[in-house]
Amino acid sequence: MPAQLIDGVALSQQIRAQVGQRAAALAARGRRPGLAVVLVGDDSASAVYVRNKVKACHEHGLHSVLEKYDASLSEADLLARVAALNADPAVHGILVQMPLPRHIDPHKVIAAIATAKDVDGFSVLSAGELTTGLPGLRPCTPYGCMKMIESTGVPIRGKHAVVIGRSNTVGKPMALLLLQAHATVTVCHSATPDIGVHTRQADIVVAAVGRRSTLTADMVKPGAIVIDVGMNRNDAGKLCGDVDFAAVREVAGWITPVPGGVGPMTITMLLVNTIEAAEALP
Ligand code: NAP
Repeated sequence: MPAQLIDGVALSQQIRAQVGQRAAALAARGRRPGLAVVLVGDDSASAVYVRNKVKACHEHGLHSVLEKYDASLSEADLLARVAALNADPAVHGILVQMPLPRHIDPHKVIAAIATAKDVDGFSVLSAGELTTGLPGLRPCTPYGCMKMIESTGVPIRGKHAVVIGRSNTVGKPMALLLLQAHATVTVCHSATPDIGVHTRQADIVVAAVGRRSTLTADMVKPGAIVIDVGMNRNDAGKLCGDVDFAAVREVAGWITPVPGGVGPMTITMLLVNTIEAAEALP
């Protein structure tokens, strides 16, 4: 029997409906949750991403401001804008869209965002909160993957999870979230000699590499949960993930499609993080 699809669009709709309710409850208490999105430069992909984020806020009762700056904005001026947003009581989440122009140090900018407003969860302090098990804002993509795994109803505790990829934004926080949920976690990366040795034993596989056909059917344990974070193009120019979807679907128990899987969940979890940041205030 083919694997059950974990539908990121449907799950997003469910979670966004809850976001709308939580936003309305906050607004009724005089605290409309607000997200500030800062875009520097004219990268066309970034412009689409920020537009989608702002649109999602407006559709679910969140206040959102988009600050657009010319690519010539100085690092000092950007840091000053971040400081102003940190102090703005109408702003509960701050997102500075990456990549930034080369003359701006992204680490400095991310570090300047108040931890309580770091809705991307990328700062060293947010990463430290996750690593040490403190409450805090979690990076949106792995946070969304956790919601997708939870949606299967399969308990994560005691399961063997394999994460392929160890980036600071996806692979590492993914592994830490699974560890926090009491999975036994293995992390594979570009220097792992035989990834299949690990994935064949895994109850949960998360592929976050950026290379198509990284996970093939012979690498998957029957019945496993397979989460595909990758965003690649196939020979026909169509969007595809890291997982050999058609063949893996015949082996796995649950699988996320690309498109329509992890992608829609990432923006949804940005909304959730903004709500959580607003709810966390005294
Ligand atoms: P990244 O920073 O480039 O990291 C890729 C990771 O994959 C690295 O840890 C790298 O290992 C590992 N890797 C590379 N080649 C490998 C191989 N042949 N075998 C095993 N591991 C290998 O990318 P990322 O930001 O984590 O993103 C990963 C993918 O997810 C990309 O396709 C990206 O577009 C997609 N993505 C999707 C969403 C979404 O919302 N759907 C969000 C974020 C990212 P080393 O560390 O050893 O170099």
